[in-house]
Order: sequence, then structure tokens, then C-alpha cells
Amino acid sequence: MKADFYETLGVHKGADEKELKAAFRKLAMQFHPDRNPGDHACEHKFKEIGEAYETLKDPQKRAAYDRFGHAAFENGGMNGGGQGFGASGFADIFEDIFGDMMGGGRQRRSSGGRERGADLRYNMEISLEEAYAGKTAQIHVPASISCTDCSGSGAKPGTQPVTCTTCAGHGKVRASQGFFSIERTCPSCHGRGQTIKDPCSKCAGQGRVTEERSLSVNIPAGIEDGTRIRLANEGEAGLRGGPAGDLYIFLSVKPHEFFQRDGADLYCKVPISMTTAALGGQFEVATLDGTQTRVKVPEGTQNGRQFRLKSKGMPVLRQPNIGDLYIQVAVETPQNLSKRQRELLEEFEQLSSKDNSPQSSGFFTRMKDFFESFGE
Ligand SMILES: [Zn+2]
Ligand SMILES: [Zn+2]
Repeated sequence: MKADFYETLGVHKGADEKELKAAFRKLAMQFHPDRNPGDHACEHKFKEIGEAYETLKDPQKRAAYDRFGHAAFENGGMNGGGQGFGASGFADIFEDIFGDMMGGGRQRRSSGGRERGADLRYNMEISLEEAYAGKTAQIHVPASISCTDCSGSGAKPGTQPVTCTTCAGHGKVRASQGFFSIERTCPSCHGRGQTIKDPCSKCAGQGRVTEERSLSVNIPAGIEDGTRIRLANEGEAGLRGGPAGDLYIFLSVKPHEFFQRDGADLYCKVPISMTTAALGGQFEVATLDGTQTRVKVPEGTQNGRQFRLKSKGMPVLRQPNIGDLYIQVAVETPQNLSKRQRELLEEFEQLSSKDNSPQSSGFFTRMKDFFESFGE
């Protein structure tokens, strides 16, 4: 009898995606085989957790499970035999969750001594203009790649690795101890199943060499700071014919001198003079599409007023929409006045009425009334 998926993860039936993920993460850490080497109960539990999470995180599978229980996934169920949780399928969801934590150094062993190459991380910084337009970037990745001399086999060109005589190519040997038969990694070939008589001189029998590779990476328009791009199989080459790791590009977008970004919208602060604000006027702003847009400042514009320039913001990733650009004006109070300027402003002040500054005139009278109300 299979355990209930919700019970396996220790969550209630209504648990949302976040709760599921948190529960899975916690349990997977606890029962991970790397932490419990040789403990079969843990390994079994680890698989159960993975299966439960794999099912419940998918809304369709979850709905089917809620309705039919485990029967939903037996042969002839929702999608026939497609429910195997093979090592690779499970490793993938594990990577989803733990990719960030494990960093680049994680390696998975597969059978036959072949080893999956390590994942690589590449940090890339682009400008906001580049994030706006998108680009194809050429990157140079120092990575170990499959040795070309021996085609990754590790054997000297012209020779072939030979089947290990100790284990007959199984990579494992069995030994009997009383009632038990114990399986061990073959000591002669270290689990590879093959031995190399004459190692390839270029790679010293490793089957891979370190070289700098040039890769072109497509950065889509509208990409956001902190995005991680995964290039499958572009990481370190596997050992002795094992699969390559993945390459992760961690993208950061440089802060811009004029524009601040919030999702697809851009914000720009533009200082204007007191007289432009009072009398009205206009200015031009350069936008990321390489054009200039005129902004009209109406008479009597207040400090902090925001103008919206539609569709002058950032493109939205893989969508046709474009965000807006918000221009906020900052009215600059004049400094270092000449004698004549001072006279003019003093004269202006004398001519001013309540209508000129409806917010400030009367403000202190109201404040005073408020203060005096305490004495009553
Ligand atoms: Zn080689
Ligand atoms: Zn062997």
C-alpha cells in the first residue's frame, strides 16, 4: 500500500505551491542519499518524497490524484505508463529546487564510471540599453570538453578501452557473506566496466581536456536583473563519455544613469527651473529606443509632478507589450542670486496673492489655529 502523498510530505490537503515546495525541500535535505550514504530506508523515503512532490506540484496531476488517488497513475490511468520516476526525471526536479544551493560543483554519477560534468556558472553584466534591445553575446567559457584525440574514451588513439576482466564490464562485483550477497564497485576499473591499457596522451586517460570555448548566447529583449539562463549540456563535459553538465548564465543589469526600472516601467527624474515650472515650457528626454520625446510642462507645474510617456518603457519578455516611462519633475530653487534677480523676486513676492500659492498661503494660519486649539 502506497503512502498518501500529502502525508508523505507532511502537508494538509489544501497546501499551496509554496508550502509544498518548502515541505519537499526540507524533507529532501533530510533524506538525501548524499547525507545518508548506504541507508536504504532513507533512499526509499527520498524517492517517495520526490514522487509525491512531482505529482502534487503539477496542478493536473494533483487534481487527478485528489480524485482517484494512486489509481490515477497506474497503467491505463491518466497518462499510461508515463509516470516512471527514473533517476534522471527525479534528478531534474531535484535540480529545480536545489540548483541555487548546490552551486556549480554538483556532479551526478551514472553507471559505468561515466560521470556527468559539473554545472557551470557564468556571471554576465549588461546595460539597460542591452536589456531593452536584447542581444547576442559571445562568451568565452573555460571548460573541460570531451577530448578530441580519443573522442572522450581516454584510450590512446587507435586503441580502445577494453572490458574489465574482474567484473566482466558490469562495474560491480558480488561477494557472498553468509546468506547475503553484497555488491561492490569493481576495484579494478572503479566502476567503469572498462580499463584503459594505453591512456590518451592529450587527456591522460580522463577523456576530457580544459579549453576555452566560445558560445553565443541569446539575451532576449526585456530581460530582468537576476535572471538565470540555462544552457543545457553546455557545462563541463562528462567524464569518460558521461553527459555534459549545464551552463547557467546569471544575468545582472547595470544601474542606469537616468532611468530606474520597475518591471516594464521606467522612471526618470528631470530637474526643471523654477521659472519653467511657473511659466510653463518644454524639454526633451532621450529614451531607450534611441529617439527623443518632447515633454510639455504646463504653467504652474508643481514639484514632483509625474508625466507618463506611454510605451516608452521596457519591453516585456517574449510579449509584444512595452511598459511606460514616467518622468518626474524636480523643481529647482534658484541659488546664487544676483542683486537684480533678488530685487525682481522681492518685487514678485510683494505682488503675490493667495491665488499664486494656494497650498502655502494660509497653511501657517491653519497650523496656528490647530496649536491654539490645545489651550481651549
Ligand atoms: Zn584523450
Ligand atoms: Zn571492473
